Amino acid sequence: MQTNLAPFIKDTAEGKEADAILRKCTHCGMCTATCPTYQLLSDELDGPRGRIYLIKQVLEGATPTAKTQLHLDRCLTCRACETTCPTGVRYGRLVDIGRHLVEERVPRGPVESAWRRALNAVIPNPVLFAPLLKLGQLARPLLPAALKSIVPAAPAPARPWPTTTRPRKMLVLEGCAQPSLSPATSAAAARVLDRLGISLERAVGAGCCGAVSFHLNEQEKALDTMRRLIDAWWPYVEQGVEAIVITASGCGVTVKEYGHYLGQDAAYADKARRVSDLAKDISEVISAEGPRLREARGERREAEKPRVAFHSPCSLQHGLKLNGKVESVLTGLGFELVAVPDAHLCCGSAGTYSILQPELSRRLRDNKITALTGGTPSAILTANIGCQMHLQGATTIPVRHWIEALDDALR
Ligand code: SF4
Ligand code: SF4
Repeated sequence: MQTNLAPFIKDTAEGKEADAILRKCTHCGMCTATCPTYQLLSDELDGPRGRIYLIKQVLEGATPTAKTQLHLDRCLTCRACETTCPTGVRYGRLVDIGRHLVEERVPRGPVESAWRRALNAVIPNPVLFAPLLKLGQLARPLLPAALKSIVPAAPAPARPWPTTTRPRKMLVLEGCAQPSLSPATSAAAARVLDRLGISLERAVGAGCCGAVSFHLNEQEKALDTMRRLIDAWWPYVEQGVEAIVITASGCGVTVKEYGHYLGQDAAYADKARRVSDLAKDISEVISAEGPRLREARGERREAEKPRVAFHSPCSLQHGLKLNGKVESVLTGLGFELVAVPDAHLCCGSAGTYSILQPELSRRLRDNKITALTGGTPSAILTANIGCQMHLQGATTIPVRHWIEALDDALR
């Protein structure tokens, strides 16, 4: 694609990056076929190629409008288009740049702005999020069905965190909302790793990874959150932790990009790169320990084979490019995975998308639930807290993180 970037951005780091991405696009349109929003809306501007054109126009000096913003808002940032693209267009990075520019130039209405500010203040902050969630859970029986589906029921209590000290040490990202929504997840990861001779440590003062603010286009706040998390982790990094283990693939995508996001920050660039190098999705850690895991599990009788559906989050399969990893860990340990049609499509959770674009999100979730339950699984397993909560709101089949099912299987 030929480009002619406007003087205001041409020579900046963002401008150069966007230009290089745009030049890789050949307009072939193959990405459109796998874009969930194009499939629902059949509008070129609600597919990746159309959005790329919109961003290109803004970068070349056109004035963005509320319509430009709407088409970018409707994008899930699922990155299915990146997986499909034959020339390696980094759409996810381009849409980050485009959204930032449009956000600066197109003011939002007062109600929408207040709503986005509230989400950005509450979700990344456990001091606000945890009590508000508890309140919602107490009132849940009285809520109308539509609201009930977005307030998750009180979670099952976590099993005990191991008290043994192992010679190998890793650090966990517990995150901001996950400890309140699903405290069992990090504890299950710690218990499984303990069986493999690894202690999973929790850093004092560690919290949100910055993904929520980034998705809401509050990029400066997101960068500050990333710096705070690096500061909390750094003493453990210096003590030589082997890896930073992340159980929410949505957070994993963000932490693995810290080196890029903070690359221009003289005080944090090196630390951010180191943190990104250490960051690993729990599936990467577990699959590297494969033979020892099978030993820990022992023999399982045929009758004990759990029949489950795995929902691979977009952040896992398109963002981290770890498609198939969890599935092979589970089948290797005797789980029976039911077939899931259109497994590449987003479930509609996508960070705060389910709140900000409820209609599209609901349609995607309904399609996904149909695909996941067609094979009558006893449980749906996934790898990201957002997808877990979103899907659980639409089914009575238990939806859990796969590491919890693995913890059960090893008991
Ligand atoms: S990130 Fe997902 S929703 Fe957005 S353009 Fe790409 S495929 Fe479509
Ligand atoms: S598949 Fe890749 S090259 Fe083709 S239009 Fe989409 S982004 Fe451009």
